[in-house]
Amino acid sequence: MITVGPTRSQPTVFERRPPATGLVEDSLAGSRHQVFWLDGLDRFHHPELIGQHAADLVVIGAGYTGLWTAVRAKERDPGRRVIIVEACEVGWAASGRNGGFCEASLTHGAENGRSRWAEEYDELERLGRRNLDEIETTVARYAMDAELERTGTLSVATEPHQIDWLAEDPGFLDQGAVRELVDSPTYLAGAWDRRDTALVHPGKLAFELARVAVDLGVQIFEWSPVESVDDGPVIKTKRGAVHADHVVLATNVFPSLLKRNRLQTVPVYDYVIATEPLTADQKAAVGWQGRQGIADLANHFHYYRLTADDRIVFGGYDAVYHWGGRVRSAYEERPDTYAKLTSHLLTTFPQLEGVAITHRWAGAIDTCSRFCAFFGLARDDRVAYAAGFTGLGVGASRFAADVLLDLLAGTPTERTELAMVRQRPIPFPPEPLASLGIRLTDWSMHRADRNEGRRNLLLKALDAVGMGFDS
Ligand SMILES: Cc1cc2nc3c(=O)[nH]c(=O)nc-3n(C[C@H](O)[C@H](O)[C@H](O)COP(=O)(O)OP(=O)(O)OC[C@H]3O[C@@H](n4cnc5c(N)ncnc54)[C@H](O)[C@@H]3O)c2cc1C
Repeated sequence: MITVGPTRSQPTVFERRPPATGLVEDSLAGSRHQVFWLDGLDRFHHPELIGQHAADLVVIGAGYTGLWTAVRAKERDPGRRVIIVEACEVGWAASGRNGGFCEASLTHGAENGRSRWAEEYDELERLGRRNLDEIETTVARYAMDAELERTGTLSVATEPHQIDWLAEDPGFLDQGAVRELVDSPTYLAGAWDRRDTALVHPGKLAFELARVAVDLGVQIFEWSPVESVDDGPVIKTKRGAVHADHVVLATNVFPSLLKRNRLQTVPVYDYVIATEPLTADQKAAVGWQGRQGIADLANHFHYYRLTADDRIVFGGYDAVYHWGGRVRSAYEERPDTYAKLTSHLLTTFPQLEGVAITHRWAGAIDTCSRFCAFFGLARDDRVAYAAGFTGLGVGASRFAADVLLDLLAGTPTERTELAMVRQRPIPFPPEPLASLGIRLTDWSMHRADRNEGRRNLLLKALDAVGMGFDS
């Protein structure tokens, strides 16, 4: 028996208008636990690291952060010897399983950025837009097949109190106008930001970045978990080692090889479903000619988009932290959450009754308390790290790559001078406080969503100290 979600005194639209449970079960019945973006994708396999190697720069981790770092390092200095060492496969983790919203924002949205770095926020916005433009030109320059579409994002209000949050937006759309674009009976208003988001195929972007890196002369090693970063610096795996001038740690949500960073992030599981390709009739019933990425405005929000073959990828809402903060594939199967997502999809688009969900998957998000990446140097400034993208790292990882290379070069740049780059987030407390605090915060955010967005004392206190929990 599948449960579809809690009901409270002021239920959200997804609780007020759920589809019949049987419809949800029917839609999910044939789904496979498999990341749609990695399903059947052609990929190049790289060897394991065996024996002693030398490099100018060794990058640990082959997600976007590591891959962009290697590509940017070669673009800046083609003669530099660069090696990437990856524990599993290129792009298997967050980089291959995300929503593909490649955003200009470096700060997990304008509100978060402005509230923390008001004085430099305009500069952060300028750098973020330039970064997104440069991602687009890089994709074109290397003829990367990443299915990049600069369609923008449509933010939609699905509860009356959210309409005011959009009212000042230059792209404001009233209910009629937003439903002209995408026809959901849950939409009360919207705002279309046309330039600040591109959609990408996450898996293809990772594999294409690896292809470009190799073309530029980077060596990639897979199935080689790095066990230590020792003085030298030298990084060691079970069967090999790389002696390098500089090391970049691009290990995201996985246990940091530096002790000092262990409490800076917590893994928060985010869940996603993908439908079968929509038929012409289903597409006509929904509209969505502009193929925008869409996100609603609740604390527990949904994000969704079309794929190249017109499936809907629909994710978000539940953000699940597990006691102990571990990353485990066992956490990825969560029937209630997939049922909830399917139910919410059918509430959003009742025209799609009967649509089959073909894929369901999850990934761990590296949440930090300020919701955007932090950076730093260690070991006599020869090891640089970035982590904590908190669900918005597709675009920001390229900016991070440049920050990491700037930091290692040791010469101040417009990036390294930013307070956002120099400051570190407040760490999460160890267990049992982490679980307790995250549960209470999560509960408070659900409550705010059912209470016209009003934040309780806990959320206000966290806002006041610049700390929070998000996905
Ligand atoms: C379900 C989901 C949806 C998301 N949606 C979006 C979105 O729409 N837009 C957006 O901007 N962001 C989104 N994100 C976040 C985004 O995917 C990440 O911020 C981004 O991919 C981070 O890239 P990364 O390279 O830092 O990390 P990863 O892709 O996680 O790569 C880290 C790599 O390091 C390797 N590694 C770790 N430890 C070691 C070690 N000791 N030795 C060797 N290798 C190691 C891992 O194996 C892994 O391959 C989403 C994330 C998830 C999980």
